[in-house]
Amino acid sequence: MKKYQLFIDGKWVDSVSGKTFTSINPATKEINGIIAEGDAADVDLAVKAARKAFESGPWASMSPSERGRLLYRAAQKLWENVDYLAEVESNDNGLTINETKLIAIPAAIDVLEFYAGMANKIQGDTLASPANRFNYTLREPVGVVGAIVPWNFPIMLTMWKLAPALAAGNTIVIKPAEQTPISVLELARLLQEAGIPDGVINVVNGYGPTAGAALASHPDVDKIAFTGSTATGRLIMQAASKHLKPISLELGGKSPNIVFDDADIDAAISGSLFGIYFAQGQVCAAGSRLFVQETIYDRFVEEFARKAESIRVGHPLDPNTQMGPQVSEEQLNIIERYVQIGKQEGATLVTGGKRNEECGNGFYYTPTVFADVDNNMTIAREEIFGPVVSIIRFKDEEDALKKANESIYGLASGVWTTNLVRAHRMARGLKAGTVYVNTFSMLDSAAPFGGMKQSGFGRELGIEAMNMYTQTKHVWVDLSQEKFNWYGL
Ligand code: NAD
Repeated sequence: MKKYQLFIDGKWVDSVSGKTFTSINPATKEINGIIAEGDAADVDLAVKAARKAFESGPWASMSPSERGRLLYRAAQKLWENVDYLAEVESNDNGLTINETKLIAIPAAIDVLEFYAGMANKIQGDTLASPANRFNYTLREPVGVVGAIVPWNFPIMLTMWKLAPALAAGNTIVIKPAEQTPISVLELARLLQEAGIPDGVINVVNGYGPTAGAALASHPDVDKIAFTGSTATGRLIMQAASKHLKPISLELGGKSPNIVFDDADIDAAISGSLFGIYFAQGQVCAAGSRLFVQETIYDRFVEEFARKAESIRVGHPLDPNTQMGPQVSEEQLNIIERYVQIGKQEGATLVTGGKRNEECGNGFYYTPTVFADVDNNMTIAREEIFGPVVSIIRFKDEEDALKKANESIYGLASGVWTTNLVRAHRMARGLKAGTVYVNTFSMLDSAAPFGGMKQSGFGRELGIEAMNMYTQTKHVWVDLSQEKFNWYGL
């Protein structure tokens, strides 16, 4: 049985308590590895190592251009290991090998390259100053960053934090999700091999209420970047408030995806299938509320369900598989509970709604479609985080916008229409961090991503994310050579 230690100060170490936990392969329920279980004591060691690396040594003295070159080299190392990382990630969380190899891992490396290029483009401002004064700003790294990440895209969501943090000269302590502890360790190992100095990246596996909470409340962590559920986001905010630590929260969603009758219907069906079933529905931005105009509703539902039924569910490492298992028994139970509630509240189960036992022993579910869903039903309000779509009727643009915005969430949204004016009008009206027009669930390293309302705050990716990993210092230089003697003393 393979054993995995914690990665602190460039060394592989057991946890202080000596405790371990097992990591399960969701496709087979076999054990992937025995994992060192960190808690507050290990987080403290990792934060000390990160602080030391931030204050002194090779990382602290590296020029921005050198840092950028090093991050490019690290990206190159990861490109050489895409297949390996993809397989580790698929074994960890059940994403299909196509999802990891063609999308999640390349997207993560693209993010690293984007921020490698940013390393020497961080700049302050020269401010308008009178002749006897010089005012300017410096953009400085925040210091030690704590990153707490979920299990759905461990490498990619770690990279969204690690890459901008390192580009700005920070150091980082990462707490991966307990369901997926291995892939981020492998990422750290490759980054060390690429030359990232000791202490710059530290990985402490463990459980949320112990390791995660210790990181969020640690007095010497300067910023917390969190991706996970809205419920945990609230706890992070409370923990961080103790030391008034700045935080960014990328939380849950119940994203509306709106199809007008003037859309290219084939394209809307394909895009909406991807919008909900990609990564087994375990996507924060998933288009889980699918609004379809009443004039095309029945035809759309029929065709959508027919195609959903044809999605090939199977072992994630089989290249023919289009949908793998859910990450855990716990997630399967949550999905089953919501499907039950959907039926009880009067939605029509068109297809799916059950575990898929033909695929073997893993946590497999069938792609599920609910029609005749009312926007007030539980399955239209709460995040299921599984392959379950709720298809809702709407009358016209006004009705669609009103219903779409009736949610505590505001992460992503989609509009399918060939009417250009309507598309832009909807883009302005939708209360969400991202609006997709005639597409869904796409990502670009240069495009800021994040939520409104209870989907969180702060933006990852893009130039904008650098603001979260740097802080402004204003320098006021008096050039007058006159004494300012207010008290006349
Ligand atoms: P989760 O909130 O249960 O866990 C996320 C991370 O937080 C894990 O590492 C966990 O160990 C840690 N954690 C749990 N309790 C903690 C505590 N008290 N203190 C500190 N850390 C704690 O979420 P999950 O179930 O792993 O992930 C699914 C959720 O993440 C969904 O709601 C999804 O929408 C959201 N998500 C959001 C985005 C986004 O970018 N907005 C991306 C992916 C996932």
